[in-house]
Amino acid sequence: MNSIGNVIDQNRRQLLWKAVLGIAAAGSASLLPSQLIAAPAGQGTATPRLSGIQRTDLIQDDLSVPGREAVQALVEIPAGAAAPRHSHPGEEIAYVVEGSLEYALDGRPPVIVKAGEALFIPYGVPHAVKNVGRGNAVELATYFADKGKPLFVLEK
Ligand SMILES: [Zn+2]
Repeated sequence: MNSIGNVIDQNRRQLLWKAVLGIAAAGSASLLPSQLIAAPAGQGTATPRLSGIQRTDLIQDDLSVPGREAVQALVEIPAGAAAPRHSHPGEEIAYVVEGSLEYALDGRPPVIVKAGEALFIPYGVPHAVKNVGRGNAVELATYFADKGKPLFVLEK
């Protein structure tokens, strides 16, 4: 199989991710702390947007376990930005490439993960992620997920 064929169209994936975040902003903006929603940079639009988080899916391919797949993505979270509480139909390993991120998993005290450290997020556990450093933060997220289900499920 040609591995180039497995590389996901990055622009399309980024649009999908932005759409997911856009739904979160439009559907539950009043429930989110105001700091989760950053004003659009240099724009006067009234539409609230979530903080300029950029997600680039790097690869997606089948695992040896039937019905399961691996997905890896690079997620950039600007200073002061946060991803709303969400879950995945699979396990996630979050490796922090740059900066400091706070992960708040349901049922656990929040933990701060710094560049060079990793965190395991069990199947289906809702979590929120916040950049608690001074600069940009970058996370390499690797998922082992059920195929055929949305990878991101926003939690209320
Ligand atoms: Zn996640």
